[in-house]
Amino acid sequence: VPRHDAALLALDAALPSGAVRTDEASRHAYARDESEAAPVLPDAVVMARSTAQVAAVMEVASAHRVPVTPRAAGTGRTGGATCRAGGLVLAFEAFDRIREVDAEDHVAVVEPGVVLGDLRRAVDAARLFYPPDPSSWAECTVGGNVAENAGGPVAFKYGVTGHYVLGLEVVTASGEVLELGRRTKKGVTGYDLTSLVVGSEGTLGLITRATLHLLPAPEAVRTLLVFLDDEARIADAVGATLRTGIVARCIELLDRHTLAVLRDDGLPIPAEAAAMLLVEVDGSEVAVAIDQERVGNALTDAGALEVRLARSEAERERFWSVRRGMSRALRSRAGNKLSEDVVVPRSKLGALFEACRAISAETGVRMPAYGHAGDGNLHVNFLWDDEEEKPRVDRAIEALFRRTLDLGGTLSGEHGIGVLKAPFIGLEQSPGVIDLSQRIKAQWDPQGILNPGKIFAGPGGRPGHGWC
Ligand SMILES: Cc1cc2nc3c(=O)[nH]c(=O)nc-3n(C[C@H](O)[C@H](O)[C@H](O)COP(=O)(O)OP(=O)(O)OC[C@H]3O[C@@H](n4cnc5c(N)ncnc54)[C@H](O)[C@@H]3O)c2cc1C
Repeated sequence: VPRHDAALLALDAALPSGAVRTDEASRHAYARDESEAAPVLPDAVVMARSTAQVAAVMEVASAHRVPVTPRAAGTGRTGGATCRAGGLVLAFEAFDRIREVDAEDHVAVVEPGVVLGDLRRAVDAARLFYPPDPSSWAECTVGGNVAENAGGPVAFKYGVTGHYVLGLEVVTASGEVLELGRRTKKGVTGYDLTSLVVGSEGTLGLITRATLHLLPAPEAVRTLLVFLDDEARIADAVGATLRTGIVARCIELLDRHTLAVLRDDGLPIPAEAAAMLLVEVDGSEVAVAIDQERVGNALTDAGALEVRLARSEAERERFWSVRRGMSRALRSRAGNKLSEDVVVPRSKLGALFEACRAISAETGVRMPAYGHAGDGNLHVNFLWDDEEEKPRVDRAIEALFRRTLDLGGTLSGEHGIGVLKAPFIGLEQSPGVIDLSQRIKAQWDPQGILNPGKIFAGPGGRPGHGWC
């Protein structure tokens, strides 16, 4: 009996009927994520609904040395949930109960497949706030967010997913169940293995429960729509906002290409506008009224073309929904798209913008950009139509990465390394750091069966942007 067939028989015996799917439609449905990584068909898709089932899957997988690729909602942007080595896709989407929202201790306990939007609504109903807000919140899950250490617009003020993870239940590659971390806000007992698992992209252990820290909900939010007549003013406008000393809830930016998407969607954008910032402040009603005015004045003094206050929640949501859909809108505007999420120190945002324009002019690749300006985190997109343009795209991406690192930045702010950026990790990290990381991985997963082919470029890795 071939290795994988024997594993499938054992899984069928260990799991409820229907949990193991080998039909073509299921295998195709779980072959890719929302990145440009090439789809790879798994041998089977296994639906997990409990910790015991996840542990049973890993016991079988380790006994038969079958690779396991965890997958939640599949909205990942770096191919993390695609199974490079075949084997099983372990799907968490049906393992999705909110176990607890504790308004006294400000804690939520959730299963990994809980959709972030559902958690936010449940927390909201308790007049609390769970800040992480990746733009995919209507679809992505808490397990996927923890595995990627997802960020989002409000990360500027509130930080990323990892800042809210108090504890995790994790199933190891051999099927052992570990309780990491704690339920209390403070705690420094032993090594911080919780933080090690956060952002580990499913390569160290499988998240089966997360204990999350919640905040009191801010009373009010105000949104400023800030239009600039020149992209060169973006860095100054961000600086002017920061110099007020007010910590905005978010400072999002759209360049002239992405602003065109808003225009095409019918949003009221001044004709002379060549860039836009979405700046929000939150807090008490009294505080936001003052903060909105001070930030607005500072932006006007910095030369903004127009600073407009969103008049209603509906107007605010209208802008945000187009912003959240930006990635997919750009996707539909070219035959091919790759997107990066580089980060530079905020003071280098202007230099990063200049580098993007220079690389685009030199390679002839269209490079629209938008992102979390307050964090220096830019989603730089690469659009092209004909396959023969791809070598130029590869050149443009590598040039962007090198310039980002020269500016003191990092390759990924929130999307992770996955499969697409694995060939580039050596540009940022030394051989010593990569070697130590791989030895940590080998301690957790000696057989290398958990999400193989991710983060580290394996022997099959080749130069160029991932294996797409
Ligand atoms: C339109 C759009 C907008 C986006 N905006 C943002 C944004 O603003 N900020 C941001 O950070 N990201 C953003 N993303 C990227 C993506 O939504 C996030 O990375 C998200 O955290 C992925 O969650 P998921 O549930 O879809 O996970 P998946 O894509 O299914 O998986 C992501 C990774 O987590 C691993 N994994 C999944 N479940 C588990 C588990 N239980 N245990 C261990 N590992 C697991 C997978 O193997 C994979 O490596 C966006 C994506 C889209 C499509």
